[in-house]
Amino acid sequence: LIKLSEKEHEKHVGEKLSAKIPYSKLTDVLDKIEAESSRLKITAIVSEFFLEILKQSTVDKLVKIVYLFINRLGPDYEPDLELGLGETILIKAISECYGRPSTKIKKDYQEVGDLGLVAQKSRSGQPTMFKPAPLDVDQVFENLTKIAKSTGKDSQAKKISLINKMLTACNAKSSEAKFLIRSLEGKLRIGLAEKTVLIGLAQAFVNYEAKDSKRINPEKLTQSEDVVREAFSQIPNYEILIRNAYEYGIFNLLDHCQLTPGIPLKPMLAKPTKSISEVLDRFQGEEFTCEYKYDGERAQVHLLHDGTVRIYSRNSEDMSERYPDLISIMKDFIKTQEGQAPSMILDCEAVAWDRVANKILPFQVLSTRKRKDVDEKDITVHICLFAFDILYFDNEPLITKSLKERRQVMEENLTPMDGKFQFATAKNSSNLDELQQFLDQSVKDSCEGLMVKMLNGKESYYEPSKRSRNWLKLKKDYLAGVGDSLDLVVIGAYIGRGKRTGNYGGFLLASYNQDTGEYETTCKIGTGFSDEDLASLHTKLKPTEISVPKPYYVYDTTNSNAKPDVWFEPTTIFEVLTADLSLSPIYKAAHQEYGKGISLRFPRFLRIRDDKGIEDATSSTQVSEFYERQASVN
Ligand code: ATP
Repeated sequence: LIKLSEKEHEKHVGEKLSAKIPYSKLTDVLDKIEAESSRLKITAIVSEFFLEILKQSTVDKLVKIVYLFINRLGPDYEPDLELGLGETILIKAISECYGRPSTKIKKDYQEVGDLGLVAQKSRSGQPTMFKPAPLDVDQVFENLTKIAKSTGKDSQAKKISLINKMLTACNAKSSEAKFLIRSLEGKLRIGLAEKTVLIGLAQAFVNYEAKDSKRINPEKLTQSEDVVREAFSQIPNYEILIRNAYEYGIFNLLDHCQLTPGIPLKPMLAKPTKSISEVLDRFQGEEFTCEYKYDGERAQVHLLHDGTVRIYSRNSEDMSERYPDLISIMKDFIKTQEGQAPSMILDCEAVAWDRVANKILPFQVLSTRKRKDVDEKDITVHICLFAFDILYFDNEPLITKSLKERRQVMEENLTPMDGKFQFATAKNSSNLDELQQFLDQSVKDSCEGLMVKMLNGKESYYEPSKRSRNWLKLKKDYLAGVGDSLDLVVIGAYIGRGKRTGNYGGFLLASYNQDTGEYETTCKIGTGFSDEDLASLHTKLKPTEISVPKPYYVYDTTNSNAKPDVWFEPTTIFEVLTADLSLSPIYKAAHQEYGKGISLRFPRFLRIRDDKGIEDATSSTQVSEFYERQASVN
């Protein structure tokens, strides 16, 4: 770090604080990224820019820039920070602000397919009478936040007025209008993956801290990337991450970014497997355990230091309002220490429970529970919470303890109670027949199958946000297919005919490419829907229809079969079953890898997955993994 005298330091900080960063400086960088396809070069552009900000500006500005880069306004778990405005409101704003009729804007949009570019073109074509004050990063960030948070009956007008103010201030010579509109739409689509932003941050900090940036050891860079990734998976909050890296140094980050009750961590995920013998091969010679795989909703239960209980979804959404019944009984199961409940984080599955027959109810029953503002006295669908892991206990993170030890902490400090709070049923065995019986029993007990987990040593540590080989899911129903269901994004639909007239008759589904941020088509689906499903899907999806496919939808433009009758905003995920996967001349999943895309054969609708964010859909890489595994078995 540059050593400054106290006076110089004060002056330096003072200048940094008052200096505004023009928004066009940021959009110039976004332009550069958009024009670049090499991931390495993109990472270099990102890290150089972050480094420049670190040197010349404040941490606070860097945090805002990072959020603008990933098109978010705060951590995932903070509510009401979503952008994603519809095309109607944006067309209205562009039309009003740039004085062009909305029919013209719409026409341009049909032709160009990108509202950002249309806004940019409209801006450049508009004569400017006087030069408005330039936009700066703080201003854009604050206005976007106001727009995201504005609700209620005047919100539409408020949003349009804020958008207008910003659009008017956009510099006609830069790409400000283009990126502002794309931000408002909820996607920058410059091929910048979030993992690149994390790597960019790590590199920027290493360079910032280095005495001589020309002599940075590549190993150090890799180490710093691992540290940043690990810290972020424990505390998925850029502000905390950046502030701690700035204050304590990048290599001390893990001492300061550790699990904290009240901040949901990204859950550990499992890899699919197709048979018990595959499990035995994988865990050969190791001690492992099998647990029932409950079919409900993931619930990360946090007991804060002040005694507050909070429950978070798989997707880090705060579900406390949804489960007031769990909140009020939680403390009954925790053994208090001197009258005080210790802080903790539990990983659980919330399952619907039949209190008369004393048994688990299917997922469909759970999904009938209201999602928000649930009043405890109106609850008819009761919940039993099945705890399968403990990640933090009494001020101590436990993720680097073995599963055996974590279980022991759970068993010693929590008291299960039938039908309300139980530990996941488990069996430690490596006998094929015994496991087969246990799998059958799990299904008889209304579970989806088994979760198989490493029990001892490093491989049994809890790995936040990772899809790990140390957790395998064995789903009974899918053993005949590819081993698992897929969760795909609905991007279009086909008009229903015959019995389906008036509803959509089929849907176009896509996987999510985590590297490019694009949605790649995987299949058309028309099977597995009841009449009620089709009617409610029509009601749900109709308002999300868009006149032009998103520029980040990858589909075959030449084949009419692959082109739906209507396109949607990406808002909904279908869980689907497939007989197998094959290379296809029309569909596009993982097409960069194979030349052709991979598609699902005989896809069948199972349910809507509303506990997953759109970017948590099955990735194109996962689709290709399913395809490869299947190829190696056949
Ligand atoms: P993905 O498809 O991304 O793996 P998913 O949520 O669809 O995510 P599943 O195939 O349902 O994953 O399998 C993992 C899920 O199973 C967990 O997220 C959790 O909600 C649930 N689950 C039920 N019982 C257990 C258990 N004993 N241990 C771990 N997870 C369990």
